[in-house]
Amino acid sequence: MKTIGLIGGMSWESTASYYKALNQGIKQQLGGLHSAKICLYSVNFHEIEQLQHQGKWQETAEILTDSARAVEAGGADFILICTNTMHKVVPQIEPYISKPILHIADATAEKLLADGISKVGLLGTRFTMEQDFYKQRLIDKFGIEVLIPDDQQRTLVHDVIYQELCKGEINSSSRKEYLAIVDDLAQRGAQAVILGCTEIALLVEPQHTDVKLYDTTQIHANAAVTWALSE
Ligand code: GLU
Repeated sequence: MKTIGLIGGMSWESTASYYKALNQGIKQQLGGLHSAKICLYSVNFHEIEQLQHQGKWQETAEILTDSARAVEAGGADFILICTNTMHKVVPQIEPYISKPILHIADATAEKLLADGISKVGLLGTRFTMEQDFYKQRLIDKFGIEVLIPDDQQRTLVHDVIYQELCKGEINSSSRKEYLAIVDDLAQRGAQAVILGCTEIALLVEPQHTDVKLYDTTQIHANAAVTWALSE
């Protein structure tokens, strides 16, 4: 079994979900007392969040590069960055490491295509919804059409992530607002909605809506289990 390198702490609320999903996935595949081999580097999210909102992405890339090198030194065979947003800086990290990064958008797109979905709604931070590093990858590399919420809805989705979900606060009023946005995306033609922030599945679950949801944390972890058990 390969060792999975995790760059986590963004936020630790979702890193805990990764830890559980990876171990459950290995247990499901191998049974008994089998569990995932994991090397985790967990950052201080306060520092990352401040830099993100100041637009200092190069500084965040340097922190994540150091983290990636630490998990490589700890024996990781490949690396997961446990956040959609921070995939923005993957191109600035890759030249400085030798192990591959399992990209969360690629894992998600492959699952969507396998399920025959070609038009999808995207929820995430403003960075993920509005910038090209994620959306454009789905479009260019996989031919998936991506719908995003309107400006007011994007503000709500973004603020709930940083002010509630990353602090472990789960509010039913926010769930209701998210579900209205999910419905709106479906009405605009989305066949499914990507929960493109690793904390959203803590708030919105499949039983809350008829719209098909793609939880990037679970999808990323499942893909990692497959990689970990492949030759
Ligand atoms: N975990 C979130 C994501 O998947 C947001 C936190 C962050 O900015 O990294 O994008």
